[in-house]
Amino acid sequence: MIRVFAFEDKNHQPFVGVEWNGKLYHFTRAWEIYKQIKLNGEGPSFPFIQLMLEMDLFHSDVFNELFDTLKQYRPLDDLIVRQPEAIAVPIQRPSKIVCVGRNYGRHALELGNQIPDEPILFAKAPSSMIATKAPIRLPKDVGRVDYEGEIALVIGKTGRNIDPASAMEYVGAYTLVNDVTARDLQKKDKERGLPWFRSKSIDTFCPIGPCLVPASEISDPHNLTLTLRVNDEERQKGHTGDLLFPIPELISYISKYMTLYAGDIIATGTPEGVGPLHSGDWVEVEVPEIGLLRNQVL
Ligand code: MG
Repeated sequence: MIRVFAFEDKNHQPFVGVEWNGKLYHFTRAWEIYKQIKLNGEGPSFPFIQLMLEMDLFHSDVFNELFDTLKQYRPLDDLIVRQPEAIAVPIQRPSKIVCVGRNYGRHALELGNQIPDEPILFAKAPSSMIATKAPIRLPKDVGRVDYEGEIALVIGKTGRNIDPASAMEYVGAYTLVNDVTARDLQKKDKERGLPWFRSKSIDTFCPIGPCLVPASEISDPHNLTLTLRVNDEERQKGHTGDLLFPIPELISYISKYMTLYAGDIIATGTPEGVGPLHSGDWVEVEVPEIGLLRNQVL
């Protein structure tokens, strides 16, 4: 299993770490060595994951080829990240975060809504993203704030008007999102016919990560089980087989209206069991095939 992390070292320098065959390697440095061996030292550097997606290089094959090649030339021990530094947000500058509302039937019903006949799209501001372990900060006077555990996909190839039959080729990676929502504010805005943007986009309201898993590592993205826990108590359990609009349909539908750029994030919706967060809570979103996204509420 390959998992790819964005890190920041002690001097706040970004680098990419790759878990490969059970060990965590300094990919940014490994790539520079690989370039010397195979590419005459030419080509880009990869301190960020996003550039790999933009260059269509975020594939299991690329990581396997790199580490298998390096192994033949030198030991990999000095490339192991022994004390992982701070984990950063995996994608720093997506052109957009597209979210899907009410994409699990039982969740639509629990909030008194109808089951939609086409996907409901809304946006979260990229500035709301935080990494795993970073705190979710509750602003004063916004009332109830809810967790929403979700599986997200990251676009690996720019496209528009994408056919459902070829849509999976556009998925570069999978990750997890907590679509934190200022529920009272959202209700107030909905009653006035206003968009959900502000209640969804408050700073720190988009925990994302902990890592990206290349799409090629997940054999069936519609066979994943997501669990959300608050203070170790299970609150949500969903299965992607229950998505009202599965991933190819979402990509096709969204790309009818807006170009999907490599690095864009699509949060696929939350299952039933949403509920409030309180100061001091620890909230965890977990999919075993992807990882554990863990944040404290302050
Ligand atoms: Mg949501």
